[in-house]
Amino acid sequence: MNKEEKNILVNIINDEIVKLTTKIAELKEFTAPVSPDNSIGRISRMDAINNKSIYDASLRNTQNRLSQLNEILKLKDDDAFGVCMKCHQPIPFERLKLRPEIRLCATCLNKR
Ligand SMILES: [Zn+2]
Repeated sequence: MNKEEKNILVNIINDEIVKLTTKIAELKEFTAPVSPDNSIGRISRMDAINNKSIYDASLRNTQNRLSQLNEILKLKDDDAFGVCMKCHQPIPFERLKLRPEIRLCATCLNKR
């Protein structure tokens, strides 16, 4: 990966981190505990609980992705950046642009 490509990726990662941080703050509002004595009624309360589990799952995924992006950002000056963890081949730049947090090339990912 050349310097220019690396700069593009670092920018993408930083943008994603900002977006995910905002998303987490929003999701946290939705995942606030559902009060047992609220007056929204039993059905609405069940809806609220169902929605909460969806938001909880989404929050966990978003938090996972955020920590992966933070991890990858730490590697930006390392030889391991943009390189498959398993076969040590460079991961195609187009692929990294879409999912900068990936650590495996397509071949190794499919072998798992
Ligand atoms: Zn590989």
